[in-house]
Amino acid sequence: MRYEKSGLCQLGWLSCVGCCGHHFKDKLSVAKGIEKNTLEMHSYLKHGRSVKEWMNRSKDRRDCGVCHNIVYDAKKDMLYCPCHPEVNQGVDLRIDHHYCDILHVCKAAFFFGLWDDARKAEFISFLKKKKKAGRLDWYSYSMGMADDSLLAEFEGLKWD
Ligand code: SF4
Ligand code: SF4
Repeated sequence: MRYEKSGLCQLGWLSCVGCCGHHFKDKLSVAKGIEKNTLEMHSYLKHGRSVKEWMNRSKDRRDCGVCHNIVYDAKKDMLYCPCHPEVNQGVDLRIDHHYCDILHVCKAAFFFGLWDDARKAEFISFLKKKKKAGRLDWYSYSMGMADDSLLAEFEGLKWD
């Protein structure tokens, strides 16, 4: 089996890191962890060391709960994993990484893949409205996807 692309991990205007860690401490600690990851990666690459070497510097989570491999791309304003096949011409560097479950998808991402275009659009619109109202950012999106609460809220709205 291999990784299947999900339409919700990167929306273009919001990134999710919900399954790149667990027992997340709080937004600030996780942001600091991601900042450290990013600075460490830049330092490795600057000194001619590979992404794989950087990835293997640790095979556990940070104390704040996030994986050592999620970084921030300031130009694209997105959080991403440099070991992911989407950014390595299909090569999955995460295989054999102790912590990473490359086949994992959250419930929302799984069901989203089964929905028709109209329902997908409804869910995206639901997320956009929340973001516009200031009730959704990278952290609350990640937490809400990982614990299925955004999916539950979306379904609840439909049952009103
Ligand atoms: S929690 Fe879901 S949407 Fe978020 S990164 Fe994981 S699979 Fe993707
Ligand atoms: S190695 Fe896995 S858990 Fe860690 S950032 Fe990459 S995709 Fe997420």
